[in-house]
Amino acid sequence: MGMTLLELKTVAKELGMPAFTGGQMAKWLYTQHITSIDEMTNLSKANREKLKAAYTIGCKKHIDAQYSKDGTIKYLFPTDDGKFVESVYIPDDDRATLCVSSQVGCKMNCLFCQTGKQGFEGNLSATDILNQIYSLPEREKLTNIVFMGQGEPMDNYDNVLRTTRIMTADYAYAWSPKRITVSSIGVKNKLKRFLEESDCHVAISMHSPIPAERAEIMPAERGMSIADIVELLRNYDFSHQRRLSFEYIVFKGVNDSEHHAKEIIKLLKGLDCRINLIRFHTIPNVPLHGVDDKKMEEFRNYLTQHGVFTTIRASRGQDIFAACGLLSTAKKIADERA
Ligand code: SF4
Repeated sequence: MGMTLLELKTVAKELGMPAFTGGQMAKWLYTQHITSIDEMTNLSKANREKLKAAYTIGCKKHIDAQYSKDGTIKYLFPTDDGKFVESVYIPDDDRATLCVSSQVGCKMNCLFCQTGKQGFEGNLSATDILNQIYSLPEREKLTNIVFMGQGEPMDNYDNVLRTTRIMTADYAYAWSPKRITVSSIGVKNKLKRFLEESDCHVAISMHSPIPAERAEIMPAERGMSIADIVELLRNYDFSHQRRLSFEYIVFKGVNDSEHHAKEIIKLLKGLDCRINLIRFHTIPNVPLHGVDDKKMEEFRNYLTQHGVFTTIRASRGQDIFAACGLLSTAKKIADERA
């Protein structure tokens, strides 16, 4: 699991099987979601034994789950190298979204993020990223995937791209790229590559339109500024199938003034995009606070009235995640204490 059709065909050939066996394997994996090679019943017993001697399926069940009263479920999945990552399943009226992680921890150290505090522990392989979907109990109900879990997707570019390709390939999940959104804070060279090489939706974490202030809460601003990100985005067409959005967590007294709204309007002028305002829920040891509903609405209304289409993201699963990253951090601490 996590291999492309071409790679599965190569595996078949290397093990002395006809290349079309690779296609059969792809079907067993991505259509049937088998958990053991023995289930590949249209392969001869001898071929299954050969395959088993060299490979495993690579899927892993979650080891923990937290259930919100609003239906949101947060899962903790083990990785190939003994670490843990979180995925959040968010059902809604007519859609069900899975928020997947791309790294264990994160290098980017955003001030408001629990995962950033965890430090960086490693990239997830495509198998580990895909396993969050493959092994999800609600997999069949999924309508959308968002790469907004732990980690910066562009910092694990190859594995994220590989996963989205398998998700959209005819031999695998055959999803439309419109069902997948990859979020980024903007990583030099990688964001450009992603815009060129993928058709998935893009969500940029802005959180402040003012470079010096953004750098205070997101050190990655110094590597690729929000101004450079927007300039890059202007070269691509987001008026048709592909959608561009900006994520904006509203922090009390930090990025919620009319001045900030004006700067956003100036920055995004002429760009086909929307802004999603996100409520901030306090996390331990972080001197930032969220704003009340009235302030959120005023900020949204100001932006919308000035031509920037803006929505307020509904808070989901608030009772189970004070912040993304808490479940895996708790697991790590528990393991260290054991
Ligand atoms: S917000 Fe995203 S990019 Fe920033 S530290 Fe957290 S996981 Fe990393």
